[in-house]
Amino acid sequence: MKCLNKVRQGMDTLKAEKHFKAGEIIMAQGDAGTCAYFIQEGRVGIVVEKEDGKVLDMGTRGPGSIIGEMAIVDNQPRSATIRSLENCRLLEITKDDFARSVRGANPIVRLIAQVILMRYRDILRRSQILSSEAAGAQSPELLEKEYAEQINVVQAIKMANEFKVAIATGQLRLHYQPIISIATGRILGFEALMRWQHPERGLIPPDLFIPMAEDSGLIIEASRWAVREVCHLIKRLDGQRPDLGNVYFSVNMSATDFDEQGFLETFHGILDATSTCASRLNLEITERLLLKQPKNVKETLDRCRELGIGVVIDDFGIGYSSLSYLHQYPIDTLKIDKSFIHKMRQDAKVLGLVKSILSLRDNLAIRVIAEGVEEAEEAELLASLNCDVAQGYYFSRPVAEEHLYPLLEQRNPLQG
Ligand code: C2E
Ligand code: CA
Ligand code: CA
Repeated sequence: MKCLNKVRQGMDTLKAEKHFKAGEIIMAQGDAGTCAYFIQEGRVGIVVEKEDGKVLDMGTRGPGSIIGEMAIVDNQPRSATIRSLENCRLLEITKDDFARSVRGANPIVRLIAQVILMRYRDILRRSQILSSEAAGAQSPELLEKEYAEQINVVQAIKMANEFKVAIATGQLRLHYQPIISIATGRILGFEALMRWQHPERGLIPPDLFIPMAEDSGLIIEASRWAVREVCHLIKRLDGQRPDLGNVYFSVNMSATDFDEQGFLETFHGILDATSTCASRLNLEITERLLLKQPKNVKETLDRCRELGIGVVIDDFGIGYSSLSYLHQYPIDTLKIDKSFIHKMRQDAKVLGLVKSILSLRDNLAIRVIAEGVEEAEEAELLASLNCDVAQGYYFSRPVAEEHLYPLLEQRNPLQG
């Protein structure tokens, strides 16, 4: 029985909803704070005991308010005592929950949240509402500096500012990697991959700046630039070398792009202004995006289909693969992630997965591209599995625009 009670108690501590009877202390001034509470039901009273022993009434809070939030932001002891005035039903937000959300947030937002709270504590201390120990021993200036260093905010702000300049002054570049028909060797299309030609640091690969660009929202401007650049390239290519085939171009999109209202209309405007046929443009997105804001994403992708822009699911198989979205969303192409292509010859299970993805193509009329093909044996195995479209270093690395023409001349000679 004792054991059962213990288990029950353990389960209770795991529950997010907490109940306090009228008169109970919810948190005590000076205690280490491990959580905040969202009040669902009931009222609470807040009091602060000053250094001279006087007790200050800081008012009451009711449903919809958050209490105890300060301690989970800056790890300082509780600055007030909170008691339930009625029976209360509270929803617990643990320090870990909060830390997890904060980790994914923009560093500037994180820093500002901490600095505002620290300054608030400083004001409380100066007006002697909070004891000097409760406000932390360090000076606010030193703390601010420490926070900024912890979050690496200076570097983040500097890089974001430099990237803004990079977009405005033409430091961004696109390199193009051909997408090949294994059977004929012809180029069917290209994937546009972004690089940053930094004036001091040289050519920076996307993995080093795309996360920052997504975090700061600057990716939206960069994606617009990429689509514009690709449309102009299609125009130049068709104007100068119509004999090289109607190759298509795929541009990578981030989830942040989809947060921007009407982002597709901007692309439509660019297609219009450059008289580019929408079927020459594909947008590459990842599976994660489909889970993010399903309604908004579905509307945008349906609009892509209406306009004739192709939708490619990138890195297929490594994310939150849920086959249900293949019929929910208008998807034209799946790109088998390169990790599968690398392992399929050594690992029978991986080969099985590749075959399953290829069967989707036959059953759902979706095109499949194998990514990251580095060796002839991989290309041969794919061809034997009836997978004809591939991309990878074996065929060509991504190249700058000037090398795209010779590649096309070599691989797409006039037929007949
Ligand atoms: P991704 O979209 O999956 O692009 C394919 C990456 O694999 C590229 O790296 C490409 O150079 C590399 N790759 C191609 N063939 C092979 C191969 O045979 N073996 C190996 N090991 N790698 C190969 P890159 O250019 O460094 O791009 C990295 C990632 O950065 C891209 O992955 C994409 O997620 C992101 N990215 C690149 N350009 C853009 C962009 O314009 N916008 C956005 N939002 N993301 C971009
Ligand atoms: Ca891609
Ligand atoms: Ca990929």
